[in-house]
Amino acid sequence: MNEFELIARLTQDLPAHPSVKLGPGDDCALIDVGWPDRWLLFKTDAVVEGVHFTGETEPEKVGRKALGRCLSDIAAMAGTPTVALVTLGLPRDHDSHIIERIYNGIKSMALQHQVAIAGGETTTNPGGILISISLIGFASKTQCPLRSGGQPGDALFVTGELGGSLQGKHLDFIPRLEEARWLVSNFAVHAMMDISDGLAGDLRHILKASKTGAELLSEAIPISVEARRAATRPGTTKTPLNAALSDGEDFELLFSVSSHDAVRLLDAWKARFPGLRLSCIGKLTSEPGLRMRSRKSVEALAFDGYTHFA
Ligand SMILES: [Mg+2]
Repeated sequence: MNEFELIARLTQDLPAHPSVKLGPGDDCALIDVGWPDRWLLFKTDAVVEGVHFTGETEPEKVGRKALGRCLSDIAAMAGTPTVALVTLGLPRDHDSHIIERIYNGIKSMALQHQVAIAGGETTTNPGGILISISLIGFASKTQCPLRSGGQPGDALFVTGELGGSLQGKHLDFIPRLEEARWLVSNFAVHAMMDISDGLAGDLRHILKASKTGAELLSEAIPISVEARRAATRPGTTKTPLNAALSDGEDFELLFSVSSHDAVRLLDAWKARFPGLRLSCIGKLTSEPGLRMRSRKSVEALAFDGYTHFA
């Protein structure tokens, strides 16, 4: 059973509460706590030694990444983060100096985004260091894009450059909070999420929730320098494009707007965020499935980021 099948099984018949407007299946849960104009956003995420970092990783960066992943999901709903709880699972023989440095990383990320750390829990974990963070925030009820809001014909956009994150920015990414809030205050964003598992794989969640397909333009996919560099290593079969489509941990925004807004958005973006690339990478379609258009052909694209010739 893969991760998605397991999640589908676990989330059947979950206990409900009338305040929960959106449960599993988007970047954050949406809760109505009685504010007239705002949703409460609620998110949890964990990083684990041996999976997301190793003993060699700079501890401060591990802490920054642990909170940064949650912040990126708040950004995906164009939200503002407010309060976090931090749970640490530690091996019995842990080095307290390293744990302190990890915690300093969490604190510096929290300070940078005006997030309070309001508590947490420490427990023993024989398997290695585990950092689990729960984060709340808020978003405007009228400007909170879900994965389900995409419409056929929408232009699809992605921020930044994709692929090769494990060779580069996965420990240094900047959650796109400011950009996301700017987007929703200036444009009708239909669907939005952050990219954590690779563009092609994550796009599937928007397509499923929005009941659309998509066509990507191979030449428009913004490929990172790291992805290009990785492809030149001996023995690598992954092309830079494959890497941009399938590598995880980009933490960029993937979103759709009406195609009528596309040019105005690109111009306004360039003026507002001159240092961050924004790319129109294709469109949502009424025809289901994911396709890649190149100069020569249109091919079915698998969610692992590879074209499979039929
Ligand atoms: Mg996400």
